[in-house]
This record gives sequence, structure tokens and C-alpha cells, in this order.
Amino acid sequence: MGAVAEAAVTEVTQRVRRGINMWSTVCIRCGKQRVFLKKWKEKVDNRGTVITSEIYVCPDKECQKIVDAKFAEMRQKRIDSEQRKANLRIKKPAVVVA
Ligand SMILES: [Zn+2]
Repeated sequence: MGAVAEAAVTEVTQRVRRGINMWSTVCIRCGKQRVFLKKWKEKVDNRGTVITSEIYVCPDKECQKIVDAKFAEMRQKRIDSEQRKANLRIKKPAVVVA
């Protein structure tokens, strides 16, 4: 795979992972068409890979606040469970099946 194609795949993967694709259609809470808020580029690793991210928000500011809070909560839960899993892996004794 060429570097350009690889970068494109990485970008899509990143977007899907962040849930940005589903952000770009309608509000998950009220169903209104989301509006474009901002677009930015950021480095995602030490090799200098840059991805472009876009954020679309609900036109209803109060609704968006609630959605943001929900996403933040979901993100925190995911981080917590990942940390728990990492801890389990460390604590688990190595079992060697001969
Ligand atoms: Zn909304």
C-alpha cells in the first residue's frame, strides 16, 4: 500500500474510532441536522502522521451541551475499563501450557 493510501486509511480509522463520522449527520439526541463547527489537523503519532478532524454540532446549544456531556461520560467509561483491563493483564500470572 502506498503512503497516501495508508494515510487515508489511517484517517478513516481515526475518524471512526472517534465517532466523528456519525457526528456529521444528525444530532443523536434531537435529530436536527448538525452544523459544521470546526476542522483541524493534528499529529497522531511520533512518525509525523497528520489527520484532519472535523466537528459537527447540534444547532441547539443546550442540546449540544447535553450530548457533549454524554460523550465525555462515555469516553471516561471507556478509559476506565481499558485501565482496568490493563491492570488485570499485569496482575494475571503467566500460565504456560506445555
Ligand atoms: Zn440536538
